[in-house]
Order: sequence, then structure tokens, then C-alpha cells
Amino acid sequence: MLPPGLPDYHVHTFRCGHAGGESREFVERAIARGLAEIAFTDHVPLYFLPPDKRDPRLAMREDQFDEYVAEVRGLAREYEGRIAVRIGIEADYAEGFEDRLRGWLDRAEWDVVLGSVHWVAGDWIDAPGSSKRFAREGVETLYREYYRLLAQAAECGLFDVLTHFDLPKKYGVRAPSAVLDAESAAIAAAARAGCAVEVSSAGLRKPVAEIYPESRILSRLIAQGVPITFSSDAHAPAEVGWGYEQTLAHAREAGARSFATIEKRIKIRHPLPGV
Ligand SMILES: [Zn+2]
Ligand SMILES: [Zn+2]
Repeated sequence: MLPPGLPDYHVHTFRCGHAGGESREFVERAIARGLAEIAFTDHVPLYFLPPDKRDPRLAMREDQFDEYVAEVRGLAREYEGRIAVRIGIEADYAEGFEDRLRGWLDRAEWDVVLGSVHWVAGDWIDAPGSSKRFAREGVETLYREYYRLLAQAAECGLFDVLTHFDLPKKYGVRAPSAVLDAESAAIAAAARAGCAVEVSSAGLRKPVAEIYPESRILSRLIAQGVPITFSSDAHAPAEVGWGYEQTLAHAREAGARSFATIEKRIKIRHPLPGV
């Protein structure tokens, strides 16, 4: 059983086109796992792509947005007193489209807005086959661009939490030491902006088989005072709270003394269990 008080702040529903199960089953799993909070954070519609490129297998359609918000609100009411169900969204950061994203975020009152950089230099950085991109476009170039965008995401002020901080490693392509300066700039930007980062077990289920962010980066974030929170990036009910024994140990080893919960976009720090 997990220590009490933990959240899972990164959970998808069927609307993203690549997750399965009823939303209610995710909540039930969170309760069974002993979590205190679950935030649904489906992908915002792909506002930064032309309409014919908005693949419904990657993010909810625009016409699903209102029913998504309504469903999560309904679950929050229904489960009140048993578990806190938070309303969230995983929002892509896309340079130059900040106003358009603000328009989407203004359409609901969120508990938590996740900021994600998936779209890098004109394509997905985390799609199957992205290893070929690294070979073609250069590992250093893509990592550098990724961290540049991540720093901008922190600074734009639209996000509460930066997700999967070292996402480009997903298929096992590691950052060269030459991009340390870009990584440092992203860490500093998160610290300045007061953005939290998630310690995510999702990476354990990917080819890289490693938590996001890796311990060296997580230690640097924590040393700079960046709040951490916990998430699974669940795409199925069984993945809610998945791997938390490992993510908790990972956070402790990186020097974390506290974690944050977030309600109505306000962060509250709690002592990290077991330290
Ligand atoms: Zn993501
Ligand atoms: Zn996600």
C-alpha cells in the first residue's frame, strides 16, 4: 500500500484516441491504489496544427472538449469525500500559438494545467519512429530545440506543471553533454516561473525504461527549488498510480523533501513520505 496523500496528476481518457477504459474505472483504481487525488488531464485539441492534421488518435476532437469537462466535473461531485477528482488538461506548448492556447484554457476552470512539449521542429519528438529523426536531424539539434521550447513553456505562464521533462529519451536516444546549457536554461526557467515538474512513471513503460526525469536532472530541479508532483500518464485504468514505489524512491534519492498538490491552480507543499 502506498503512503497516504499522494496524487496522480496525469491521466488520459478514451477521448485522446489512444487510451482505453471508462473514466470511472480510473477513479476506482486510484482509490484501490490508496491515492488521495486523481487529475484527469486529456490532451487539448491540436489547436496548433491545420484542421486536416489534427489526428483524432492523438488528442480529443474540439467537439469533445465540453463533454470532457462535464464528465470530470460529474466524477468530482460523485466521488467527493472518497477521493479528490481534479479537472486538468495536458496542453501542448507550441511556439507562436500561445494566444490560441490561452483561448482553449479560458474555456474551463482548471485545477491543474500540464505543459507538454511534444512538437519539436515541425514534428512529434515522441512518436514511434522518432529515433530516425535523431539520426537525420541530429541528436544535439533536436535536444537543444526541445529544451529551448520547454524553457519557453515554463516562461509563458500558462502551465502549472511541466511534464516528462526529458521526453526525447523515450526511445533510448540520450542527450549529449553538449546540451547541458540548454537543459540548465530550462531548469532555471521552471524555477523562475514557479512551475512544478512531474516525477512520472511513464518512462518506465517505454523503451528507455527510466523515470522522467532521470535522477541527475531531477536532483538539479530539486536543488533549484522546483516543486515536484507525481504522475503515471495512465492510458488505462491499471496504470493509475503505476510504479509509484519506484517514483517515490527516485524522488527521495534525488533529494526531494516535499511534493506538491494542486487545486484550482494553487500549489500546496507537503512533506514527502519516508524522508
Ligand atoms: Zn505527454
Ligand atoms: Zn499524457
